[in-house]
Formats: sequence, structure tokens, C-alpha cells
Amino acid sequence: MKIIRDNKLCYGCKTCQLACSYHHTRSFWPEKSSILVLRSPLTGKIKWSINQTCDECLNEIEPLCVKYCTYQALKIAK
Ligand code: SF4
Ligand code: SF4
Repeated sequence: MKIIRDNKLCYGCKTCQLACSYHHTRSFWPEKSSILVLRSPLTGKIKWSINQTCDECLNEIEPLCVKYCTYQALKIAK
């Protein structure tokens, strides 16, 4: 399973980063997320990355980052 992002739909809201930290820690702790979202204050350009700590939301019903991206920018690539 791989999480992919459509950059045309992503607004850089960071909800996925928070949702992922909730999966890992059961708290909203952005530094403990597998996802990092950064927006340049100068250009507005959004950088989104996912690191190797992603465990594909083990023991969750579905990946929380995908579930809570209200803009539907994230999808599971099978
Ligand atoms: S939740 Fe969706 S729109 Fe928000 S930063 Fe993540 S991918 Fe982008
Ligand atoms: S699938 Fe789960 S662990 Fe992986 S990035 Fe998304 S929320 Fe984080």
C-alpha cells in the first residue's frame, strides 16, 4: 500500500499530519507524524512528504490520513 497525493487538490491544511500523529500517539503531536506538510510563506508552495515510519495505519480500519483529508487529495495506491 502506498499513499499518494494529488497536489492540485491539496491546500496544505496539515490535517493529514495531525491525523497521522494521532495514529502513532493517540494525541495531536505533529512532530510524531509520518507526514510533514510545509508551506512556503514566500511562494505559498506546499511541500508534502511521508517518511518510513508510516506503518500503513496498522490496527486502524482505514488510513487516517486518507480518511481525514477533507479535500480528498490523498488516495491509496494499490
Ligand atoms: S489533509 Fe489533504 S489537503 Fe490537508 S495537507 Fe493533507 S493532503 Fe493536503
Ligand atoms: S497511512 Fe497511517 S501511518 Fe501512514 S502516513 Fe497515513 S496516517 Fe500515517
